[in-house]
Amino acid sequence: MEGIQQSPIDLTSNTLPARHDLALQYIPAPLEVVNNGYTAQVNVAPGSVLMTGGVQYALQQFHFHRQSEHTVNGKPADMELHLLHLDSAGNIAVVGVFLTAGRQHEALQSVWVNLPPQKNENRLVEGVEFNAASLLPADLNYYSYVGSLTTPPYTEGVRWFVLSAPVEVSKEQVARFGSLFSMNARPIQPLNGREVHFSRAAE
Ligand SMILES: [Zn+2]
Repeated sequence: MEGIQQSPIDLTSNTLPARHDLALQYIPAPLEVVNNGYTAQVNVAPGSVLMTGGVQYALQQFHFHRQSEHTVNGKPADMELHLLHLDSAGNIAVVGVFLTAGRQHEALQSVWVNLPPQKNENRLVEGVEFNAASLLPADLNYYSYVGSLTTPPYTEGVRWFVLSAPVEVSKEQVARFGSLFSMNARPIQPLNGREVHFSRAAE
């Protein structure tokens, strides 16, 4: 059931300031890549966490959208990475990272080359570890708001942290994803009076 606090949204410069309260503590884990027919997903073993408001959320998986789902002042990026976390009560927190075409991203390449070409295939890559931190920008300024999952069942109450600094990937890496998956970005949803905050990381 879709409610009125849905994601994605357009992020504008019309934001409220917020205290910086986001820490991402990611560690290397065995690389398990899934082609679920809709996106490339990497399942993450326990140990990588997000901390906010004194609550710890465990990173479960990350996956990709082409083009980006969130937009900034109406503009999409080439792709968007979603890192999905759950706390012990099952509450959801997602970190979004914009990916823009530029230089090849070496860490991402190790996901791409191990991506099963067939739908509904899992590949646990022997002897390869991956640290999700390698996909984050250096600067963790973020937009935050409360929204939903962007795929069925569109569950609400999701805490979103969308990083404003993009990460570069190559045109070929975007094209490689595009050759395996159809456009999988959900359209922008109405804000319906929700507040969007912007928080700048300490220098
Ligand atoms: Zn997603």
